Amino acid sequence: MNDIRNINFDQLVSFLKENGEKPFRAKQVWTWLWKRGASSFEEMTDLSVSLRQKLSDNYTFQHAEIVEEVSSRDKTTKYLLRFSDGKLVEGVLIPSKGRVTACLSTQVGCPLHCAFCATGTMGFIRNLHYSEVIDEFVLLNNRSQEIYNQRITNIVFMGMGEPLLNFDNMMTAIDILTGQDYFGLSPARITLSTAGIVKGIKALADRNFRCGLAISLHSADPMVRRAIMPVTERNSLHDLQAALVYYHEKTGERITIEYLLLSKVNDSEKAAEQLTRFCRPFPVKINIIEYNSTSDSLFYKSDPTRRQNFVAVLERCNMVVNIRQSKGQDIAAACGQLVRQTN
Ligand code: SAH
Repeated sequence: MNDIRNINFDQLVSFLKENGEKPFRAKQVWTWLWKRGASSFEEMTDLSVSLRQKLSDNYTFQHAEIVEEVSSRDKTTKYLLRFSDGKLVEGVLIPSKGRVTACLSTQVGCPLHCAFCATGTMGFIRNLHYSEVIDEFVLLNNRSQEIYNQRITNIVFMGMGEPLLNFDNMMTAIDILTGQDYFGLSPARITLSTAGIVKGIKALADRNFRCGLAISLHSADPMVRRAIMPVTERNSLHDLQAALVYYHEKTGERITIEYLLLSKVNDSEKAAEQLTRFCRPFPVKINIIEYNSTSDSLFYKSDPTRRQNFVAVLERCNMVVNIRQSKGQDIAAACGQLVRQTN
């Protein structure tokens, strides 16, 4: 049996017609699925019992569930979510200054093997279907209202996985999250973060992507970046820079650069100079991220003096720099940590 959320609107209309239902019912069902975030046919209370029965006789309705919730002292909460095939991903809710930001996953595992990342050690398991990305949002949005008394205001795709290697599902999920007839979130409040998939960045530019784009750069030195982020082998810094120039030309948007400071690896003043040179051709905002050490980690976070010197170089070059306070450290909230502890 096909899942109700794998069919498109026209297929839904034909199914209803064939079953003697009025076509406007399609809009109602669609609203339940993609606007109200229903997780069962029983919830669709404005449909007749017989229509709900017809739907459940012909379609499955798979949905994810929360299997674990961990709260941090700083009010960050982290979730372990399970999909219908038993696979697990993580999501995080981060409340701050009147906002609640949801950090969502895009794949189960990740194929990129970044040396500092817990998810990378799991390898790639599978892509998330767009309906599963929406499930993450709906489940966390419900919890956000229960815990913080507020809906999710911002979304960052910085959980497990590489969104640009799950391109079509991500674009559909974002269309559903932002569509006026759907969840209606502003694209300005959604950020997609990538390790730097050149082809994907160009494809975003060509479809005039309206959400924020963040690049996990972490080094502007070709040798160092290759060592800590093997994705650099097929997506060279040179090609990445060219793709970002293209992206900026097409969209006019400023690009967020994420830079994780790893002690004695990428935190020298020379590394800061390389970073400013990389960013010169387009407007950027640089987020300096503190390393969240993982259980078997090979790295250490930079000490405050090295960090200050690094940031001073960037500021001297008039770069916009943000130092990100690490959240949820007591609950292992860095990418992939919770799933790994559970497995
Ligand atoms: N694949 C995408 C999105 C997922 S990773 C990307 O690379 O951007 C989200 C962010 O978490 C990335 O910037 C990643 O480099 C960072 N990250 C991974 N492990 C981390 C750790 N142990 N401490 C801090 N940040 C980490």
